[in-house]
Amino acid sequence: MTRRIDCDVAIIGGGLVGSSAALALRGMGLSVTLLDKGFCGAQASGVNYGGVRRQGRPPEQLPLSQRAHAIWPQLARLIGIDGEFLRSGHLKLARSAADMASLERYAAEVAPFALDLELIGHNQLRERFGIAGGVIGGSFCPGDGHANPRLVATAFAGAARRAGAEVLENTKVTGVTRTFEGFALEAGDVAVKARTVINSAGAWADNFARAFGEPVPLERTYPSMVVTEPLDPFLGVNVGIEGGGIYARQVTRGNVVVGGERAAPLDDPDYSRPRSDGVLAIMQRASELFGPLRHAQAIRFWSGTEATMPDRNPVIGPSATTPGLIHAFGFSGAGFQIAPGVGEVLAELVRDGRTSTPIDAFAITRFPPASQPDDALSSR
Ligand SMILES: Cc1cc2nc3c(=O)[nH]c(=O)nc-3n(C[C@H](O)[C@H](O)[C@H](O)COP(=O)(O)OP(=O)(O)OC[C@H]3O[C@@H](n4cnc5c(N)ncnc54)[C@H](O)[C@@H]3O)c2cc1C
Repeated sequence: MTRRIDCDVAIIGGGLVGSSAALALRGMGLSVTLLDKGFCGAQASGVNYGGVRRQGRPPEQLPLSQRAHAIWPQLARLIGIDGEFLRSGHLKLARSAADMASLERYAAEVAPFALDLELIGHNQLRERFGIAGGVIGGSFCPGDGHANPRLVATAFAGAARRAGAEVLENTKVTGVTRTFEGFALEAGDVAVKARTVINSAGAWADNFARAFGEPVPLERTYPSMVVTEPLDPFLGVNVGIEGGGIYARQVTRGNVVVGGERAAPLDDPDYSRPRSDGVLAIMQRASELFGPLRHAQAIRFWSGTEATMPDRNPVIGPSATTPGLIHAFGFSGAGFQIAPGVGEVLAELVRDGRTSTPIDAFAITRFPPASQPDDALSSR
């Protein structure tokens, strides 16, 4: 028998973006149904590296990133756990004079956003952070840090449920139709009527955008990660490299999480498998920088599916074709840190039709619209 639900807001996708929006909307007293085709937080939001980093973001993301930055230390109050959030600082290293010049330019460009970036020379890198091999300097952002994505993503969905949201897992949305009053969603044996729909379906959100005449050049990417056995503490900061190639953090238990390569997609592009040469490359690069990693055992590797946009900025904001539809996807490898801020922004957009945080740069209208909506979704 079909279960019928009538609510103010239906949210497609229970990653950190959808779950934090659900929690914020419940805080405003709106009725919310959060639907996920699997388990909330089981995709990118729960398997990512765990970097909670503002440094390196394009300036247009920084107001939103700063909003999220204020939320992270409040997780215990908000979702009942601290998510192992550590304000360790984020250190971005430069391997060449050109990379150092790029870090210097970035520090000057984002100075108005008060990230308090500190440019650091080679000697200080060694003295303060114990890092020497192959790098000439770096840029340190003391307020950035890291957290445990496995804990944070599911805890947001749990908090939304406790706050009164209807959270439906293993419930894939297969069709969304605009009706006179709002939207009708089909999801297996559940039929949802909602005034507003949030499309936070991560790497699958392009299907919903296309169905409403808004095709986007979303590409699925598959970052891969490695974690080592617990080691004595040697890395007190979250480290990245200008130009990419490797990032690493050590958790309180001693394990070191390292990323920097891409996995290979499987036949079902929802899933991927880390390539063994990629895993070896990550560990090789990491051990050149950090001596203690030279003889460390890697105990697990994994990968996740991420929605990447060509300009590396997300799509956040109202649909240009369909009143009541709001998009939030395409976080391009950097959505973990900003998601709690995005959730608040989405809730404001639903309640007020606008938000106090600048999001114009993320409008879906930066991509050309389709001449006709695509109804392929109803057959998915
Ligand atoms: C390996 C990896 C490392 C990363 N490292 C970092 C990092 O260190 N720092 C950082 O800031 N960001 C990082 N990211 C990016 C970050 O994880 C993502 O940008 C963020 O989690 C995106 O959240 P989301 O809610 O949009 O997507 P997701 O977490 O993917 O959630 C989308 C949800 O939608 C659901 N869904 C899809 N289709 C449907 C449907 N038809 N019906 C119902 N539900 C549906 C999915 O099941 C999924 O749960 C990383 C990503 C990966 C993969």
